[in-house]
Amino acid sequence: MGQPGRRTLIKGGVVLPMDDQIGNFERADILLEGSKIVAVGPALASDDAAVIDAGGKIVMPGFVDTHHHQFETALRGHLANGILINDGRPESRSNYYETILQKFSMVYRPDDVYINELFGSLSQLDAGVTTVMDVSQIHHSPEHSDAAIEGLRDAGRRAVFGYFEGWGEKSAYPGDARRIRETYFSSDNQLLTMVMGGEIYIPGYEEAWRIGRELGIPIALHVVGTFGMQPTFDELGAKGLFGPDNIFIHMTGMSEQGWKYAADAGSHVSLSVPIEMQMRHGTPPLQTSIDLGMSISLSTDVECTMTADFFTQMRSFVTLQRMEANAKALAGEEYPRLATANDALRTATIGGARGLKLDHKIGSLTPGKEADIILLSADALNVAPLNSAAGAVVTLMERSNVDAVLVAGKVKKWDGQLLGFDIDRLRHEIEKSRDYLFETAGIERDLFAD
Ligand SMILES: [Zn+2]
Repeated sequence: MGQPGRRTLIKGGVVLPMDDQIGNFERADILLEGSKIVAVGPALASDDAAVIDAGGKIVMPGFVDTHHHQFETALRGHLANGILINDGRPESRSNYYETILQKFSMVYRPDDVYINELFGSLSQLDAGVTTVMDVSQIHHSPEHSDAAIEGLRDAGRRAVFGYFEGWGEKSAYPGDARRIRETYFSSDNQLLTMVMGGEIYIPGYEEAWRIGRELGIPIALHVVGTFGMQPTFDELGAKGLFGPDNIFIHMTGMSEQGWKYAADAGSHVSLSVPIEMQMRHGTPPLQTSIDLGMSISLSTDVECTMTADFFTQMRSFVTLQRMEANAKALAGEEYPRLATANDALRTATIGGARGLKLDHKIGSLTPGKEADIILLSADALNVAPLNSAAGAVVTLMERSNVDAVLVAGKVKKWDGQLLGFDIDRLRHEIEKSRDYLFETAGIERDLFAD
């Protein structure tokens, strides 16, 4: 399947195409040819197609994660109770900036980067996240960059390689972006594309922005008030330097004027709702970005502090938006429209595709797009009986309900099992990497730390 000319019929599922022109179906088929979707509708005929029985399944586009630091996979859970930066308060003892970025990340070797990227990619593929923007702040040498790209590529998933900073003498950021683009991303007709990282709290970011625009790729950056970047953000906005090619991650603690610049420029906002609540980034600016009519998506950020599964993302999105609106309703104030399960699904699929400039290829089950499709078990013990399709996905499901996953028409997960990888061997490799990272960074791995 997925080979040129090969036809596949996904038959008899509840279909949520995430495309208003097509609409939802209680029972429909999806016809694929090679890597692409050819048709969506009831009772499609195709004699020569391989048939996937989607009875009892919800069929929809794969989830799109617009910001995930996959190089940190070996550090999973280490900062379960951690906050973002050391602000002098008691919880600062374990903070992300000092522990992960200033200690752990400094000791990564290219081999660590590779296994972390691969393992993190496969975990999300297994959970139905068919596209990621990987934010790898680990480019200490061109070999580190190559290893990150190889890890993403070997997973066989659709990924956007986010070329962010690195540290030390051998770091070639940002200039090496030209070589990387030429070597790995000269074709648009592949699973991997590229985004330029341009953190405005790092001196020399102007050069990164220039190169990103020279290469014609989006520019992504973290925008967090606690890093003291509000004045710089406002200044860039005032100079007219924002564009629809900007992906602003978090957008916490920014001024009203800064928001206006970003909205007027058509920039995109990537919201990491559970992380922002957990780690003191500031209250996730859901309502602000919705009120300004901005293009928004969801992102998982870091597994050292929170899972990278998208059911958690979608539930956090609806519950937080509704909590704020419901509080106003209870106080007798005017309140915004309550977010629905369908809003969460849109944000988690086509919203992410738009943010990554991939909506011409993915994000909905529109004929002509690539077949990145997931089949979710609506007949499972935790979901049946099915009474609301979008509601079931957003409020009831979890990763065990991801029955099958296709990327560009190729089956990556089937009958609940990820295909093509010896997970035991990979687990052993990432444990070895984990042991090396903790030992070399001089950090104790304490299973029972508070
Ligand atoms: Zn981040």
